Amino acid sequence: MSLTMKVLVGMVLGIVVGLAINLLGFNSPGSFINEFVVDGVFYVAGKMFVNALKMMVVPLVLFSLVTGVCGIGDVRLLGRIGGKAFVLYMLTTAIAIASALAIAGSIGIGQGMNATTAAEFTGKEAPPLTDTLINIIPSNPINAMSEGEMLSIIFFAILFGVSLLMVGKKAAQAIEFIEIMNEVMMKMVGLIMVLAPYAVFCLIAKAMADLGMDLLLQLIGYVAVLIGVLLFHLFVTLQAVLKLFSGLSPAMFLNKIRNTQVFAFSTSSSNATIPVTLRTVTERMGVNNSVASFTVPFGATINMDGTAIMQGVATVFIANIYGVELGMSGYLTVIMMSVLASIGTAGVPGVGLIMLSMVFAQVGLPIEGIGLILGVDRLLDMIRTAVNVSGDAVVSTIVAKSEGKMDIAVYNDPNAGVVYTEDVHVDEEVERELAGVVQSTHDR
Ligand code: ASP
Repeated sequence: MSLTMKVLVGMVLGIVVGLAINLLGFNSPGSFINEFVVDGVFYVAGKMFVNALKMMVVPLVLFSLVTGVCGIGDVRLLGRIGGKAFVLYMLTTAIAIASALAIAGSIGIGQGMNATTAAEFTGKEAPPLTDTLINIIPSNPINAMSEGEMLSIIFFAILFGVSLLMVGKKAAQAIEFIEIMNEVMMKMVGLIMVLAPYAVFCLIAKAMADLGMDLLLQLIGYVAVLIGVLLFHLFVTLQAVLKLFSGLSPAMFLNKIRNTQVFAFSTSSSNATIPVTLRTVTERMGVNNSVASFTVPFGATINMDGTAIMQGVATVFIANIYGVELGMSGYLTVIMMSVLASIGTAGVPGVGLIMLSMVFAQVGLPIEGIGLILGVDRLLDMIRTAVNVSGDAVVSTIVAKSEGKMDIAVYNDPNAGVVYTEDVHVDEEVERELAGVVQSTHDR
């Protein structure tokens, strides 16, 4: 069985077991199952796996991006790739939110609902755009890396790669070293992914056991419309964009992106999913590392189609509940704010709500309205993160195809880059060989 299949099985079992625990009432505080299974095994194993993914993000982005820049070898080309990716990311996000507003608005969700049940919610501040711009340049690169500031890391890595190129011959060994490190990090991704089926099971079982169905049913209108628009964006808009700009097969794309979506779904974080997205677009879809190493982490930070859709649907929902007329200019403001907010906020769990309070403040909707949808946001965060990473992969593919930095044969091969558990083993021959090398250096 391929890893993708195993991960999917883990996900389905997780949903079934988690919901069963919730529906049978085994998750009451203090009960054995809650203490030792849900908050014990599931929680610990899930968190450990997410940590393992996050552990790889910074070194992987750094090494692969420097390798990528050196691989391109041309600063102008790099600017063109960046420009294309940026425009496409903004374009898809704008389409996402516009379609969310249009669909939710024409259905009229939330009309006639009573607003007095609002729970408490105090919004956190989203970073102002000026700060985002300033912080692209890290005053301390080590700090940026330890904080996982993606835009700063990207900036530093590009500059570092460009400087390596400019130093030329003398830097050849350094470039080679970084290329090897990049390969090592990719190997690590493959290694950790072998554990994914079990981790995905734990993460999802815990989420479902905590969540249950009650809240979901109460807000069924909001949830259904939101999921509908998310699916529409994933299967119609993004695929149309892919076909239109690259001519590549959407069916093949959807088939290969599934694994990455499950990772995004179970971690609720585009950032933590970067290693998997990077591996999928390069090894399974044939995108050259020189493009993917830049577009994937860039996209995880600035591109959030799914989150933008949530904001569109939530805005219409809350506006209707409180009986606020937004009007055309209000809607345009929402579109602009969501696109801008997505640039400044990183792809980590729950960020969507911070962006939403920013949008609400701008158009004068009551921030505490967010309290109404807070309860179901966990699950919706999972779904929209899967849409977010799909958008990153679509744009990476389009940019690579347009620059001729893509192996079409790999893209069209359904089995390219599939991980089989048997592949990840220690090769005894290599081990012996390596031991010999170490020994001889020792002897010298
Ligand atoms: N969790 C989302 C992401 O990482 C962001 C959000 O919508 O909260 O892409």
